[in-house]
Amino acid sequence: MTSSARPILNRRLAEFGTTIFAEMSALAVSTGAINLGQGFPDTDGPEEIREAAVRALRDGRGNQYPPGPGVPELRTAVVEHQRRRYDLSYDPDTEVLVTAGATEAIAASLLALLEPGDEVVALEPYYDSYAACIAMAGGKRVPVTLRPYGSSFRLDLDELRDAVTDRTRLLLINTPHNPTGTVLSREELTAIAELAVERDLLVVTDEVYEHLVFDGAEHVPLASLPGMRDRTVTIGSAGKTFSYTGWKVGWVTAAPELVMAVRSAKQYLTYVSAGPFQYAVAEALALPDTYFSAFREDMRAKRDLLAAGLAEAGFGVFRPAGTYFITTDIRPLGHGDGFAFCRALPERAGVVAIPNAVFYDHREAGAPFVRFAFCKRTEVLADAAERLRKAFAH
Ligand code: PMP
Ligand code: GLN
Repeated sequence: MTSSARPILNRRLAEFGTTIFAEMSALAVSTGAINLGQGFPDTDGPEEIREAAVRALRDGRGNQYPPGPGVPELRTAVVEHQRRRYDLSYDPDTEVLVTAGATEAIAASLLALLEPGDEVVALEPYYDSYAACIAMAGGKRVPVTLRPYGSSFRLDLDELRDAVTDRTRLLLINTPHNPTGTVLSREELTAIAELAVERDLLVVTDEVYEHLVFDGAEHVPLASLPGMRDRTVTIGSAGKTFSYTGWKVGWVTAAPELVMAVRSAKQYLTYVSAGPFQYAVAEALALPDTYFSAFREDMRAKRDLLAAGLAEAGFGVFRPAGTYFITTDIRPLGHGDGFAFCRALPERAGVVAIPNAVFYDHREAGAPFVRFAFCKRTEVLADAAERLRKAFAH
């Protein structure tokens, strides 16, 4: 410890504290409540993919530092995935970078692309690492708030246009969107693309939930829209798509100059990670379409089960078109402060959830919203729904 009066933690990070996910998962453990807070599945992904990781470990593939950009097998698999799904073509040698999850891809992108003082326009509520990484890069976040509209949250395109100034360096987009479950439509994404082209902005787009879209909604990668291929850094992750969130394998696809820039930062963060898992994820990306459709269908059924339970308990339910999460409104239950509500929920109902306000700069705009994760076993969701009904339904 230093004896000076100067705080230990620097000013850039001081406002962030411990992530809400750590806080709420610890609360779930200490109270024995069902954890619908942090978004991780409570069952592992495909057995054959886990076996592929075991094989790689046994065969000594990836047990020493893999190449900086990622193992060639995975870079090729990412390219093939983007081609097969979206008809987007990338060069595996110069246009793909494997990262320690999407989290590192976000951090490295912002650290590489921002000068101190640059403005970043991002959709609020935002995933918590965005604000911290913008701060670490010395940037300034400019939130554009998604607002409740019927049973979903919508982006106001005029507000987005108005948020862009001469100091804006990049747009940070997330679709499907955590925590609201909004999937931006082709029309909305086209308007975002037109704005980026008109104002000559870079775009970083977090598409980790690309395979989790429901009810016929379509995931449209921003990079596939006119003028976007060479100004967009697209971020993907194996965690969500293959239910192995602990492996932390993510990737970036972008034009060579952008990949080179992101790699410049990434090489001094982790350099490389997850060697054997990279080989397993290469196999996972090549799974047949039936894997992806069954996974999506399974998650849709879980969403429906939890949404029905929450509605019966008396929550206002926003129906997510994608992701792992349902955002609810607690005002119909007579509450208005999501923080207080979530801190009391384990005691009151034996369930843990996340207060959406943590994802907002405009805390008051997020105050009455609470997020529940549905990436859990059916019996766990049914149990949680029953507990919530008992605690709240009259
Ligand atoms: N982006 C979003 C929108 C997320 O919800 C998450 C968390 N799962 C991440 C990025 C981080 O992904 P990863 O675990 O691959 O680092
Ligand atoms: N992305 C996950 C969520 O939103 C959590 C990841 C984390 O704990 N950092 O719940």
